[in-house]
Amino acid sequence: MAGTKTFTMIKPDAVEGGHIGAILAKINEAGFRIEAMQMTQLSRKDAEAFYAIHKERPFFGELVEYMTSGPIVAAILEKDNAVADFRTLIGATNPEEAAEGTIRKLYAKSIAANAIHGSDSDENAQIEGNFFFATRERY
Ligand code: UDP
Ligand code: MG
Repeated sequence: MAGTKTFTMIKPDAVEGGHIGAILAKINEAGFRIEAMQMTQLSRKDAEAFYAIHKERPFFGELVEYMTSGPIVAAILEKDNAVADFRTLIGATNPEEAAEGTIRKLYAKSIAANAIHGSDSDENAQIEGNFFFATRERY
């Protein structure tokens, strides 16, 4: 059965562009509840750890550089079928291929600076949520 949680980050280009409010409104309108949220800036060590799965990819250096370039908003989101429904809401990695009305189609600048992250599996949603929010116990 599909899980009920996913993890997101509003990335530096979308924060810098003033799109936090509009993006959160779309997330709420799509039926997601915000369970935890934090605005912060990733250190190089944070970004390298978060994206460790991509460390052999040619874009890894650029990705770490970009993700540490300014503040981000990290959040845990809750909804039925959260991972798949959120990936639909954000659209394809490359904004040129993203469907009309998706967050990346509306706000992404490029394949690297693509406005928003969404977990790709229930397992990664849990790992990524814990990366930001496991310091305090939630009751
Ligand atoms: N990325 C990039 N160049 C690429 C592919 C990905 O800069 O050719 C960046 C982009 O910011 C993307 C992130 O690396 O969101 C993670 O890539 P992934 O393939 O996991 O895409 P996503 O799951 O974010 O759609
Ligand atoms: Mg991914």
